[in-house]
Amino acid sequence: MNNETSRRAFFKKLALAIPLAGAAGIIVSSCNDNKNGTNNGTTDKKPADCHDLSGLTPDQMATRKNLNYVEISPVKSKECKICALYIPPAEGSTCGTCTLVPGPIEPLGTCTYFAPKTT
Ligand code: SF4
Repeated sequence: MNNETSRRAFFKKLALAIPLAGAAGIIVSSCNDNKNGTNNGTTDKKPADCHDLSGLTPDQMATRKNLNYVEISPVKSKECKICALYIPPAEGSTCGTCTLVPGPIEPLGTCTYFAPKTT
């Protein structure tokens, strides 16, 4: 793949990701009343457990699947913990969140929309 094709593919992904990020932001902001400081896109008040998806709606589960989220990235350079969309875990939790993918996010996970931090 040459640079022009690669750049086009990136911007195409970005154009798809921005509306999804907005939707995810609405979902995440609606969960900001979580008393323990976690913001995992779920409705429960317990600390985030990366394996507990019980608080997610079917639509949120479908979004995770459609964005090809996996808990362990096959490519170390594309792990969630170094993605610009990753929100690190709240104190006392090992599980972060994402502005795009709803629900708990493993720091070592990844998805189709990985975007490297620029700083
Ligand atoms: S790689 Fe995907 S799931 Fe992980 S933080 Fe980035 S956008 Fe979210």
